[in-house]
Amino acid sequence: MPDELILNKEHLTSFLRKIAREHRLIAPVKNRYGDTLFEEVSCLDDISLDLESRPAMPPTHFLLPQDETLFRYKREDGQYYFSEVLPEVSTVLFGLRSCDLWAIFLLDMVFEQDFKDPFYLNRRSNTILINNPCLEPMKNCFCKSAGSGPFLTEGYDLQFTDLGDRFLVEIGRPKGKALVEKWDYFFVPATNKDKNKQYEAILEAESRFQQVVDLNTASLRFINNEVDETLWEELATRCQGCGACTYVCPTCHCFNIADRPISETEGERIRTKDSCALPGFTRLAGGHNPRQKRSQRIRRRFYHKLAFAKEKYHRSSCVGCGRCVEVCFGHVDMIRVVETICEKAEKRSSAASLQLGEILVNTGLISSEELKTALEKQATTGKPLGTQFIDDGLLTRDEIGRALWHQMNIPSTAETAD
Ligand code: SF4
Ligand code: SF4
Repeated sequence: MPDELILNKEHLTSFLRKIAREHRLIAPVKNRYGDTLFEEVSCLDDISLDLESRPAMPPTHFLLPQDETLFRYKREDGQYYFSEVLPEVSTVLFGLRSCDLWAIFLLDMVFEQDFKDPFYLNRRSNTILINNPCLEPMKNCFCKSAGSGPFLTEGYDLQFTDLGDRFLVEIGRPKGKALVEKWDYFFVPATNKDKNKQYEAILEAESRFQQVVDLNTASLRFINNEVDETLWEELATRCQGCGACTYVCPTCHCFNIADRPISETEGERIRTKDSCALPGFTRLAGGHNPRQKRSQRIRRRFYHKLAFAKEKYHRSSCVGCGRCVEVCFGHVDMIRVVETICEKAEKRSSAASLQLGEILVNTGLISSEELKTALEKQATTGKPLGTQFIDDGLLTRDEIGRALWHQMNIPSTAETAD
């Protein structure tokens, strides 16, 4: 069987119906209030499948549920007996967006690398991922900037590209192949014309993004301690601490663990989703809370997404889905925070350049005219002002160093030696 096939749209429901008979099928469904959400679909005739809108909540909730039982316990004759509860339902996630698929890859790293989480991993190994790349990015989407979309070249089990009256179906992994082979009578091989049409769709989609978000620069500024710390106090005046940004984020994965009694002698240990935006999240036994202030919690959230993940997994843990942009009424979202971090750092570095320039003029090492020219050049080259002077042959590193030391009334090594 070739790796690229065609499924006519009129056969989609029949194909999904077959899947739903043998697997738990999760797909984007428009409900009676007009909201699109990922839902478990048992009868395709009763639902309105929606592949146009991005579901409000991410599909990662089906891999890491809002609450789940880890094990049950029973007390009998003074002894405790434990029974494990491992999820085993075979699931097909259909209608995923590339950003959400990337979020799943990030969760895989979190739950697989240091400590292997059997609950997540068991669910994950029982899940087949079918991607539907976006042809029309939404207003706040920035997967292209985040490097997670809009199309994927690997990672999916199947990828369905909408070509109008048909889907180009790409087989990515054996689980996807098995699904297609089982009901192969729905599919025909794709032609070069179909592949060219997909290529055009990719180019078209990539040209339609309204948001360009420089996550990379923001990550580096965080890592290099170049973020203006007053930013978090400013943001705290706009954040209501509701936690919505973390609950809609496909890569957020914090949880709490508690014991819940079922009867006098039985109970269960449960895991529930938690949020770093909520004050109780870091409260310790005894009442001490290291992140008491809202500004500290906001900082931690963005630090985790932009710096910690970058250092540990070599990419930020924002996949550019845009959900936090839509949900936060205080505009404390990834797009605005990244823009502010980059803009503030730029202002700080231009203020620093100006300060250095003034010192050099005051000490008579350069003229005001030379400073003006160097600042103009620096705007194009992006070099630090000192480097610009050195590269232009106006000053040496030692001369700049001595001027700065002098300004701060600290004798330089050269002066001390004299
Ligand atoms: S940043 Fe926005 S969504 Fe997140 S907790 Fe604050 S107000 Fe709620
Ligand atoms: S931080 Fe915002 S844009 Fe980024 S993945 Fe989370 S919800 Fe989506």
